Amino acid sequence: MEERMIQTLEQAGHRVTEPRSQLIKAVVAQKERPFTGEALYEELKEAGLGRATVFRTLKLLQDLGLLSRLHLPEGCQHYIVSPPEHQDGKHHDRIICRVCGRVAYLDECPMSEVIADIAKASGYKVETHHLDFLGVCSDCLASSDEN
Ligand SMILES: [Zn+2]
Ligand SMILES: [Zn+2]
Repeated sequence: MEERMIQTLEQAGHRVTEPRSQLIKAVVAQKERPFTGEALYEELKEAGLGRATVFRTLKLLQDLGLLSRLHLPEGCQHYIVSPPEHQDGKHHDRIICRVCGRVAYLDECPMSEVIADIAKASGYKVETHHLDFLGVCSDCLASSDEN
């Protein structure tokens, strides 16, 4: 995952400096859990990374499709690492566990028919949408049953 991110950056013509490579390591360590730029900065500032570097690099990784933004009830500043099969820059609808933050991806966009209806009714050409479901994952459901 780390290698792939570095490769993607280099192929896009960006230098992978030491701070960037540290940030990538920290990002990959988040696995499929959402994180904020602020939390990542807190983690990396000891290593000498500035806030601007952290946020600029996150934005860059997002632009390259390696991260995406997540809109959670507590705010929109979260990022999530895109799984390798979803680093194609296409949109993927998601379902997020509000307890543990795990993100699952829908195989298919459930919106295509709805979008056709919306386009017809409004006369707009619909180009994109963001669809995130919020819920509780099966693991969290199971552990809350036990309690
Ligand atoms: Zn969960
Ligand atoms: Zn969709």
